[in-house]
Amino acid sequence: MTAAADERTHDSAPADDVLAVAREQVLERGVGLTEEQVLAVLRLADDRLDDLLALAHEVRMRWCGPEVEVEGIISLKTGGCPEDCHFCSQSGRFPTPVRSAWLDIPGLVEAARQTALTGATEFCIVAAVRGPDARLLSQVREGIKAIRESGNDIQIACSLGMLTQEQVDELVAMGVHRYNHNLETARSHFPNVVTTHSWEERWDTLRMVREAGMEVCSGGILGMGETPEQRAEFAVQLAELDPHEVPMNFLIPQPGTPYEAYEPIEGREALKLVAAFRLALPRTMLRFAGGRELTLGDLGAEKGMLGGINAIIVGNYLTNLGRPAQRDLDMLVDLKMPIKALGDTL
Ligand code: SF4
Repeated sequence: MTAAADERTHDSAPADDVLAVAREQVLERGVGLTEEQVLAVLRLADDRLDDLLALAHEVRMRWCGPEVEVEGIISLKTGGCPEDCHFCSQSGRFPTPVRSAWLDIPGLVEAARQTALTGATEFCIVAAVRGPDARLLSQVREGIKAIRESGNDIQIACSLGMLTQEQVDELVAMGVHRYNHNLETARSHFPNVVTTHSWEERWDTLRMVREAGMEVCSGGILGMGETPEQRAEFAVQLAELDPHEVPMNFLIPQPGTPYEAYEPIEGREALKLVAAFRLALPRTMLRFAGGRELTLGDLGAEKGMLGGINAIIVGNYLTNLGRPAQRDLDMLVDLKMPIKALGDTL
């Protein structure tokens, strides 16, 4: 054996082993990977990608089952946010083309109706704010009431930024069953991404949400200049939070934002990240959210569904068009993955 070949063998041994370790630890025992193990997965050579995706899929089937949760989201208040999240086209601090706008109650009811027609069980009401004020909470309250009065019993989630304890309690009283608030990135990287509030403030909201009995939904965006080590750090910090759901987004560089010139994550890398997060979070709902079309393309979406993902957002995302809902629903039929029924989640 040449010196170079010897070195390759030596270098690749620990990386190869991580899949064997994951099979015993994650698949058999349901114990998520540690930070070092996630990093080893992220460093696997590309020719191990299929093995990695196959294992992540087995883990998802073993610990979550075959169902896929389908969700629709709607923006109640778009743009004009005072915060400076560097990836976000809805920040009022950057010269992006997004203009501030509010949706009215009939628009909200119609969006909920269309979402329910796709078979989705979740309808998430989103607002671009630091946190809700009295006007926004009153719109949400009226909107939920109108959706219920229309005979639509879809489950309602909200994503309204950082909350006070009083606001958490109000949302519970309105019947909101899940709250989304993304940690966005690893704690160590967060100050490079956002300067107007802290990772810890986000964590506090999530803690209150959990203690009030709502389901916690928290994920983030990959491709914001974080290192592989920080990606592993983030996966493990999410595991520590133990959310019901983790939405995985891949950065879509938005014109006018500080990240407009960032390169999207390459498809194989994105698939590796999906699988690595599945191995860190064996029992958590892992949702394909924004950026998958750009990063993965159509083939990638299916590969991701066979590589650890078990929830999707259908239709439009907040500021970027997703692909038509029917194509996603057809994909699930092709993959023989049943859509989770409303009754399963009540
Ligand atoms: S708080 Fe939300 S809406 Fe506001 S800039 Fe940050 S990500 Fe965008």
